[in-house]
Amino acid sequence: ATPTALLVGTGRGAQLGVLIRGPQILESTRRVDTIVLDKTGTVTTGKMALLEVHGSAPTAADEASPTELLRLAGAAEAGSEHPIGVAIAQGALERVGALPAATAFASAQGFGVQATVDGHLVLVGRPRWLADEWQITLPGELRAALDTAEATGQTGVAVAWDGVARGILVVADEVKPSSAAAVAQLIRLGLTPVLLTGDNETAARAVAAQVGIDEVFAGVLPADKVERVRALQAAGHVVAMVGDGVNDAAALAAADLGIAMGTGTDVAIEAADITLVRSDLMAVVDAIRLSRRTLGTIK
Ligand code: ADP
Ligand code: MG
Repeated sequence: ATPTALLVGTGRGAQLGVLIRGPQILESTRRVDTIVLDKTGTVTTGKMALLEVHGSAPTAADEASPTELLRLAGAAEAGSEHPIGVAIAQGALERVGALPAATAFASAQGFGVQATVDGHLVLVGRPRWLADEWQITLPGELRAALDTAEATGQTGVAVAWDGVARGILVVADEVKPSSAAAVAQLIRLGLTPVLLTGDNETAARAVAAQVGIDEVFAGVLPADKVERVRALQAAGHVVAMVGDGVNDAAALAAADLGIAMGTGTDVAIEAADITLVRSDLMAVVDAIRLSRRTLGTIK
């Protein structure tokens, strides 16, 4: 086959805001039958906002005032680059003013963060992580706040210090305006969309329903995202993966076609075959149409 049509295709790709690593990528783009979409930052804007603050009940022995909760959680997240961490640090700063300094900051990718603030070991993260890794369980009223948040598609993050759960912070972002239309087009092109996320099942299902995706893999740890892609490939599928995070990089590399959001992390962009300048799922539709059209012209 003459590579001319392929080069035209990639040049046209650049015009569409689809940066293709090389002409050979168009061939795998054309064969894709399953498209795995990361939730946060890919289907949704990834611009999380802090919506609610729930402290432990006043009757609890280790009561935390909402101000104290925000001060310590905000300070612990100040060093985080995760959209949830950024939302908590910003939301806390807006509500309580200056935050204390944190030391010994460490982030557990896909789980949460820990840091020392005002002499307390503060943890902010996925409730399951606090339970499994730190043996910290939520009291009933915080569990109820968490369940309510998740039932409406929001994400509840637990805050603990000195070994005791102190509160739940509720964060959420919004589905990108074009995501539902893009998913509909991908289905029309014959692809099966799958939503993949580290977030909880209920929030993931709520987002999936909004954009028209039936298949959901939720609560997936960063290290397991790549396993989900491999399992689909083992079942005979040619898989495209679209993501933006550090935690998506291995899955992007393992997929037959890795697609990174231009607003994503450098690690994701490096692992991908295609980068979308617009960070808009409609560009994935453009890329697939383009590859089919371009390769259709080659004998
Ligand atoms: P996604 O797959 O949607 O991009 P991640 O794998 O990055 O999600 O995160 C999964 C979950 O881990 C989040 O929903 C949250 O509960 C928790 N988490 C991750 N990072 C943080 C953080 N910096 N602060 C609090 N919670 C976090
Ligand atoms: Mg993401």
